[in-house]
Amino acid sequence: MGRQPDGRRSTPRTDHVLADPRLQAAARQLGINLVKQAAVAALARCRNAEIAPGDVVDAALGALPPAASTLRSVINASGVVVHTNLGRAPLSDAAVTALSIAAGATDVELSLESGLRDRRGRGALAAVAGAVPSAGGVHVVNNGAAALALVTRALAAGRTIVVARGEMVEIGDGFRIPELVESMGATLREVGTTNRVRLEDYAAAVDDDTAFVLKVHPSNFVISGFTSSVTVPELATLSVPLVFDIGSGLLSRHPRLPNEPNAADALREGASLVTASGDKLLGGPQCGLLLGDADLVESLRRHPFARALRVDKLTLAALEATLTGPPPPVVTALAVSQTSLRARAARIVAAVADVVSASAVDSSAAVGGGGAPAVVLPSASVALPPSLAQALRTGARPVVGHVERGLLLLDLIAVAPEDDSVVVEAVRSAASVRDRPCM
Ligand SMILES: *Cc1c(COP(=O)(O)O)cnc(C)c1O
Repeated sequence: MGRQPDGRRSTPRTDHVLADPRLQAAARQLGINLVKQAAVAALARCRNAEIAPGDVVDAALGALPPAASTLRSVINASGVVVHTNLGRAPLSDAAVTALSIAAGATDVELSLESGLRDRRGRGALAAVAGAVPSAGGVHVVNNGAAALALVTRALAAGRTIVVARGEMVEIGDGFRIPELVESMGATLREVGTTNRVRLEDYAAAVDDDTAFVLKVHPSNFVISGFTSSVTVPELATLSVPLVFDIGSGLLSRHPRLPNEPNAADALREGASLVTASGDKLLGGPQCGLLLGDADLVESLRRHPFARALRVDKLTLAALEATLTGPPPPVVTALAVSQTSLRARAARIVAAVADVVSASAVDSSAAVGGGGAPAVVLPSASVALPPSLAQALRTGARPVVGHVERGLLLLDLIAVAPEDDSVVVEAVRSAASVRDRPCM
């Protein structure tokens, strides 16, 4: 009884708090609902005598989110360059600028010169075509799965697709390529065994009912040992089109990823169509690329189902800038040297060693996101006690590492160098949370 009534009497009224110019300004940015929620929570704390009446506005301001979105900006110290749970490829600054320009009214489908309707996303399409000169035509849809769905729907509904048994893959979260393809009305004809398939197997399966041969890059696992698969030039000798789902979105050969298929080589070697994701190794926004034979691409673009998979202007803007601007973060991460990562890890360790036991260690990073499953990227990490993992994930700027052999590793391969100081602050603050006696 004692304290609460006093707290109630001195608690300011909600409308007085909301009238504060700083909260009014916040409401213009975030919307009144979020500001009201923060004010109500701060007033409740005042009523409970946790804060003084004069501090209510400051407390409400302090509790406001940085944007009207529940998505948080996270530092990817997981050692997985393309992490699906962290939104795959982070966009380049050039892509972010481009999409913020496109966010308003924009000439995505209008020629400002003539005042007439123009080809939607022509700049992005030209950028893709420029990056893969061997593609007769290019089209962009919502994601890699949508690209495959469109090809199947447009070319193979009611018909048969021939595919190797060892390439019937599950992408993740239970999504299986064979089920996707069958849901579009095509029938799969599997050839070969789990580990081996030959050109004769394909040739024997292809008949008048076959729409195309599908080759799928097993992008998230490797089969080794007694294996054989059929190359693109060999499959291109068959009498039906070859559709190659390369997955990762490498447009041309990458020196560090020699076994990862790329669109330019696949088309040069005779694939009719290549499908790929935009937010894996390409380092751009989520989208699906379709490249290849000009007539086939045009028939896909004109198919009624294509409209249901249409990408928005933000994606088109970010994709174009990813291709024409400076290298995006994924590409930079794949090129970074272990020596420079070691030096950064040592500097971070030196900046936190007074508050926590930390060491700089060598680590093995992965490409991730369905790309180059067998490739180990030599990296460097800051090793910390695993008890810090949760505090780091839930801090003001979340840092996501991974625990390996009893240590929390913050792998720096996918951390932008300019974020090293943020990592230092996050570790120092996580260490202080953990050391608080009441924890
Ligand atoms: C990732 C991947 C897909 C799915 O692409 P999304 O962009 O996630 O829809 C399809 N096929 C392969 C081989 C992949 O690696």
